[in-house]
Amino acid sequence: MVRADQAYGCIRKQATVRIGLDFDGTYTRDPLLWDRFIAVANEHGHEVICVTMRFEDESLADFPCEVIYTARKGKVGHMVKLGRPIDIWIDDNPQWLLLDAAA
Ligand SMILES: [Mg+2]
Repeated sequence: MVRADQAYGCIRKQATVRIGLDFDGTYTRDPLLWDRFIAVANEHGHEVICVTMRFEDESLADFPCEVIYTARKGKVGHMVKLGRPIDIWIDDNPQWLLLDAAA
């Protein structure tokens, strides 16, 4: 197997990348995969935040990274308002990045 840094010499590792990981339908499809992903991303100096449209009273107990609850608000705008814009999104329903959902 060829490593990415060997195959694509022009790629440089960016400083910290903030990754937004959805919960329902994304993390829930394969929690062990995403647990490993979070651990490896952290080892590489990146920040993974679970960004969910849930309300805080629908909280995720013992989640392996920080969780942000947007309370049905679009995720991109919510994170920008918090001053923590996401660099890379991982989400099974990308429309919820930009749209609000019915409360
Ligand atoms: Mg989802």
